[in-house]
Amino acid sequence: MADTGADRRIAVVGGGMAAARFAERYTALGGPGTVTVYAAEARTPYSRVLLAEVLAGRYDPEAIALPLGTARLRTGCEAVAVDPAARTLALADGAVEPWDDLVLATGANPVLPPIGGLRRPDGRGLAEGVHTLRSLDDCARLAEQAVTARRAVVIGGGVLGVSAARALAALGVRTEIVHQAPHLIERQLDAEAGAVLRERLSALGVGTYCRNRARAVATGPDRVTGVRLANGHLLDCDLVVLACGTRPRTALAHAAGLPVATGVLVDDRLAAGAPHVSAIGDCAEHRGTVHGLAVPAWDQADVLALRLSGADPGARYTGSRPPSRLSVGGLEYAAFGAVDETLDEGLDVLRLTDATRGSYKKLVLRGDRLVGAILLGDLAGLDALTDAWERDDPLTGHPLHLLTAAAPS
Ligand SMILES: Cc1cc2nc3c(=O)[nH]c(=O)nc-3n(C[C@H](O)[C@H](O)[C@H](O)COP(=O)(O)OP(=O)(O)OC[C@H]3O[C@@H](n4cnc5c(N)ncnc54)[C@H](O)[C@@H]3O)c2cc1C
Repeated sequence: MADTGADRRIAVVGGGMAAARFAERYTALGGPGTVTVYAAEARTPYSRVLLAEVLAGRYDPEAIALPLGTARLRTGCEAVAVDPAARTLALADGAVEPWDDLVLATGANPVLPPIGGLRRPDGRGLAEGVHTLRSLDDCARLAEQAVTARRAVVIGGGVLGVSAARALAALGVRTEIVHQAPHLIERQLDAEAGAVLRERLSALGVGTYCRNRARAVATGPDRVTGVRLANGHLLDCDLVVLACGTRPRTALAHAAGLPVATGVLVDDRLAAGAPHVSAIGDCAEHRGTVHGLAVPAWDQADVLALRLSGADPGARYTGSRPPSRLSVGGLEYAAFGAVDETLDEGLDVLRLTDATRGSYKKLVLRGDRLVGAILLGDLAGLDALTDAWERDDPLTGHPLHLLTAAAPS
């Protein structure tokens, strides 16, 4: 079996954002042999980050396709088992494919919250009108029902939930978000930024119920009719979107005897516990973290392409820079470093809230050093702020300059 050279066979199981990036980088680097991407979805890999934009009708599905370089793509091709000792991959159609290196990039599944009424009475699939938003197929089903829907409830107010709600509102569906935490996107935004976001959403026709839990989905004879909250209140709706987080897809790795915790465990080489097997993206767990974000998936794909192609055999992944910017259904924000000053004594805060324009900026300082920031709605000055934070040098001049330099002109 060839390990290097022109005969080398690299099998990538996935066909999502990490797989596409790896295939594109590996082939661009002139890595030896052939890369084959086995993709369960029956389409070219695409940017999931832009799914809400497709739902809102702002992008065509073709516009979000991702390049794969010269890799071979086998769509509609689900891998059902891997054998690290025999170095083979079994496909759903019964074929068995040999490989010299295997890359697991199987992504993540949406988490279904433990509430009643989600499934059809026969237990097969979600009840009519209940949706997840993870794939273009999900997107098409949701868009089709949104045409006749009157009201929607999105369960979960993180990045995905807010993006989905904005997209549904853009389609003219009155939408409400139900979120357990005290404010929206609480993992990256503070309460003030959450409040600004809530106002912006409200202006777009999206209502927000924070500190509220969905207890059950109510269904009529044909489809969903509402969402019952833990406080007893019933939100009338004919469409429900579940946006309650994701769980790494680890079944293949687990069945193959590879080490799995929350995700497939990888070291700094992105090696997955068996010779010639690696894992990247949402399915991988590195140093105790499953990122579930695009930038770390790309960083991991880049490092693995460098290592496996031979361009840099010593390449290591030691973590990712925090996302410098994220887009929540067209509303941009960035958050990095320590953004909650209440968790640590001795931190100072500078804030600029512009409720009229729906923007919010916050700098967190320790003495004369920038230790964190949030920018919402207007990212002017972001590069200067991330520079100051990463250099960790004492700031020259009053920090107010950094804030006003980042303010809208
Ligand atoms: C609506 C939405 C909005 C998002 N917004 C942002 C954002 O603003 N910023 C951000 O950083 N991240 C965002 N994300 C997260 C981001 O999309 C993911 O982090 C990224 O897609 C991870 O890439 P991946 O390749 O690991 O997984 P995925 O892109 O999920 O790809 C995994 C692929 O593997 C396939 N697969 C699984 N098992 C098999 C198998 N056995 N055989 C063959 N194929 C298989 C799946 O069908 C899937 O196509 C968003 C996600 C969604 C759904």
